[in-house]
Amino acid sequence: HSKELVVSFGEMLIDFVPTSSGVSLAEAPGFLKAPGGAPANVAIAVSRLGGNAAFVGKLGDDEFGHMLAGILKKNGVSADGLSFDKGARTALAFVTLKSDGEREFMFYRNPSADMLLTPDELNLDLIRSAKVFHYGSIRLIVEPCRSAHLKAMEEAKKAGALLSYDPNLRLPLWPSAEEAREQIMSIWDKAEVIKVSDNELEFLTGNSTIDDATAMSLWHPNLKLLLVTLGDQGCRYYTKNFKGSLDGFKVNAVDTTGAGDSFVGALLNKIVDDHSIIEDESRLKEVLKFANACGAITTTKKGAIPALPTVADALELIKK
Ligand code: ADP
Repeated sequence: HSKELVVSFGEMLIDFVPTSSGVSLAEAPGFLKAPGGAPANVAIAVSRLGGNAAFVGKLGDDEFGHMLAGILKKNGVSADGLSFDKGARTALAFVTLKSDGEREFMFYRNPSADMLLTPDELNLDLIRSAKVFHYGSIRLIVEPCRSAHLKAMEEAKKAGALLSYDPNLRLPLWPSAEEAREQIMSIWDKAEVIKVSDNELEFLTGNSTIDDATAMSLWHPNLKLLLVTLGDQGCRYYTKNFKGSLDGFKVNAVDTTGAGDSFVGALLNKIVDDHSIIEDESRLKEVLKFANACGAITTTKKGAIPALPTVADALELIKK
């Protein structure tokens, strides 16, 4: 029995991560090139767990674009939904590591190729074959990519996919906090599964108390599962019929980049074959425990993609 397909839509880019923290971009002694972009990380997370994943997005027809396409293929992710822009360059992000551990991102957006994906470039056959359609790139809720985004969501939904969303807020908020919130909310009520971090919950609600009432204030009628991830504290889950929380795993965290994507990939790789898991609390808890383990493992190594676990890695941590 072959696995059902997870299609992940959005950005894939290169993060230039400074080799030391607490200094400005201009003062960084050097940069490591880390391929990433949350939706691409999710696709690779699914594939590394033995699942079937495709990434849909646009890259520049340049050295970085072809390098990223190669990384997808090497990791077993279908690149059949990739487009290449002849004019614009592949997206890049320059990261500042602040001394408090916070990351700030400066995106090359002149515009970058990913922002130029148009609806008629979409590989609709691929999108319609998805059983889960995942999205979440705040920079891409602008035209023309916004229309491509909405069309892809609509086509996937019509063909029977579950829609999954992670807002992936990045600092500084662009173009402004208010517009970032509006853009997120403009696609919020179509998603059936949403994962937010505690910081995103606070940003979206304006409420710094992370409790059930704050989480439920984000509920909407199409939603089936709302997840709030809490770093080393694990996660909380909310459905129409039940809610609860699961502790995280204790690990020696060295870099949390990609933890949320690993968590989402693990969850989606399970529910893609059986959407009804969401309605069964005991099965959902098993899946979320597995997702917590995957998120935890991803923090134990530098970078996102190199740190994404296999099933064996996750089971080993769970057994400990
Ligand atoms: P995001 O990366 O989106 O901010 P989180 O940091 O909340 O999301 O991480 C997602 C999941 O990864 C958490 O729910 C948890 O299971 C796991 N995780 C993250 N950080 C740690 C950590 N320091 N120790 C153990 N598990 C972690």
